[in-house]
Amino acid sequence: MACDVFALANVGVQGLHPYQPGKPIEELQRELGLDSVVKLASNENPLGPSPVAMAAAQTALKQSHLYPDASGFELKKKLAAKLAVHENQFTLGNGSNDVLDLIARTFLSAGSSAVFSQYAFIVYPIAVQAVGARAIVTPAKNWGHDLDAMAAAIEADTKVVFIANPNNPTGNYLGREALSAFLAKVPEHVIVVLDEAYVEFAGVEDFPDGLTFLGDYPNIIVTRTFSKAYGLAGLRIGYGVSSPQIADLLNRVRAPFNVSIPAMSAAVAVLDDQDYLARSQQVNSAGMLQLCSGFDALGLAYIPSVGNFVALELPCDAMPIYQALLKEGVIVRPVGVYQMPKHLRVSIGLEHENARFLSALQKLKSEGVLDQ
Ligand SMILES: *Cc1c(COP(=O)(O)O)cnc(C)c1O
Repeated sequence: MACDVFALANVGVQGLHPYQPGKPIEELQRELGLDSVVKLASNENPLGPSPVAMAAAQTALKQSHLYPDASGFELKKKLAAKLAVHENQFTLGNGSNDVLDLIARTFLSAGSSAVFSQYAFIVYPIAVQAVGARAIVTPAKNWGHDLDAMAAAIEADTKVVFIANPNNPTGNYLGREALSAFLAKVPEHVIVVLDEAYVEFAGVEDFPDGLTFLGDYPNIIVTRTFSKAYGLAGLRIGYGVSSPQIADLLNRVRAPFNVSIPAMSAAVAVLDDQDYLARSQQVNSAGMLQLCSGFDALGLAYIPSVGNFVALELPCDAMPIYQALLKEGVIVRPVGVYQMPKHLRVSIGLEHENARFLSALQKLKSEGVLDQ
């Protein structure tokens, strides 16, 4: 080839590796000729989509020849009422991943830096590097964000700090007091992103609702999603809540039609489906208990989680166990890309799915596969 296209790409992009998604069910079935496969790998909602949301998306398909409402009027109105903020504080995204990207593109570039923690969500390093900014990664403390280290790591050129609360893939969370003390330390010209993709699952008393800090700290952006507790991962819709000034900037960068008509309609509908959300939460807490008791019974360690997944710690390299579980028809998520080679991230499934995973683990243990 006459021209090396790789050399044409932005330097940051050249250093990126393709995102490794969870293995699709159909692929595993094809490869191993398995009839039934359980996927506990992508933190998806095991209930399937809300019927109310599906009906709304179906109806919305009739408008497929039209561009979506670029202002997202209806959804913002609904969210504003629900969250007690103003419509002009929202930035809608094609998933909250899109919002994280918008934040990077709006505030970061070559010559600036972003701070995030070791073991934090993988999208932060990708978003930062893609725009040529520098990543400052602080060492984790007990698998969680070390907020003192993060505050100390902020440099003169730091423009954004990313915090996932609860964090993925570890599932742990920052309490209200710790987060509040951290926010008080961050200079006001540094944007703090509070990524709350799993907020609906974090039913612990001292879990801080990021929105409550918005009044005191205009430099905060809270991101949330319909992908997890609301079960709409495939439709791609999430949002940011911030000061109107920040939202205005993000919306200038945002592609005007980044969220589809069915996605917005389904999101509006699912916000009214209180029963679905309640069931999501109930199935999740029951499943978390089921998995963790199972791990305890097997003598396996895990990181206590308030998300819809749990990071299981193995006594050995996790990859062979991941492979062995695939042969049993169970897909979980290895987290080697997070530099956690001995952990497997397991999404909470329905009772029978969790049971199938636990019995596969039990089988591997009795075969001695889990031994160091
Ligand atoms: C799943 C997830 C998201 C966003 O997912 P979207 O589907 O793009 O909304 C954001 N942050 C974390 C930590 C996640 O795990």
